[in-house]
Amino acid sequence: MRRIAVLNQKGGVGKTTTTVNLAAALAAEGHRTLVLDLDPQAHATLHLGLLPGRSGPSLYDVLTQGMPLPDVKKNVAENLDICGSHIDLAAAEVELINTVGREVVLRDALDADPTPYDFVLMDCPPSLGILTLNALCASREVFIPLQAHFLALHGLSKLLETINLVSRRVNRELRVGGVVLCLYDAGTRLGGEVIEDLDKYFDGKRHANSPWSDAKVFRTRIRRNIRLAECPSFGQSIFQYAPSSRGAEDYSSLAGEVLGRPPAKVWLDDSDSPSSRRAESHEDTPATPVLHG
Ligand code: ADP
Ligand code: MG
Repeated sequence: MRRIAVLNQKGGVGKTTTTVNLAAALAAEGHRTLVLDLDPQAHATLHLGLLPGRSGPSLYDVLTQGMPLPDVKKNVAENLDICGSHIDLAAAEVELINTVGREVVLRDALDADPTPYDFVLMDCPPSLGILTLNALCASREVFIPLQAHFLALHGLSKLLETINLVSRRVNRELRVGGVVLCLYDAGTRLGGEVIEDLDKYFDGKRHANSPWSDAKVFRTRIRRNIRLAECPSFGQSIFQYAPSSRGAEDYSSLAGEVLGRPPAKVWLDDSDSPSSRRAESHEDTPATPVLHG
């Protein structure tokens, strides 16, 4: 079982989009996958078609009431389960403060679940509080979604410092698996520059025992794609909503890389040639609205 926390303390960088669509891609390839929605905003829950609160108990009940995971999670597609979130989860940060072993409640709940998952993906909130700490203690890998703009690396040191602390003090197995570039604008030089900076950043900090000694920047770039922004409001993954979109193509390619295959296409980091720009621009027309339900 691979347990992966999808984490960046910044909001709006593509954590939820990546968690949901990577999970859907892995499930579609036959891997049994569980999504844990650790964000009280419940975006992953909504994205996978559940209404927070109306679908029964949530991760809040697992973390604060000791409810077993199998009593809470729901099956939403073949091979794909989710343990949903609810705004109540925000209170768990405070309620857990006086609990002994508060950072390992989620890990223990996962260990007690007998379902033989191949992947557990955890969508983290945009903060480094107790919910995120629970995700880091329950994971072996961290994927960091990053938006390729000039402030992309800002905040990364803080994040790596937190991961380092958790790995030294509570979870020795924790490793940074990789960085996923999201909302990528092909045709700009900036993307290529950010990737170079990232590679340098990790190389400069790489030493044998650091949790990021094997961290890589995934070669697949998740391009900016309107379909990816639309599908959450329909409660569908990109593979249900727009299976032939660039968004679906990119998340399948990322799933392939996660499974050890090469990326689906060769990415030119400074692909600002007119032909690549033409190829990228055809999909920016809005979708025809579809009524929910
Ligand atoms: P986070 O979970 O880090 O806050 P989200 O995954 O919710 O970030 O993404 C922030 C916003 O950007 C959402 O509205 C989402 O639909 C949109 N979005 C994410 N990735 C893409 C993409 N590749 N192309 C277009 N829109 C995207
Ligand atoms: Mg989110």
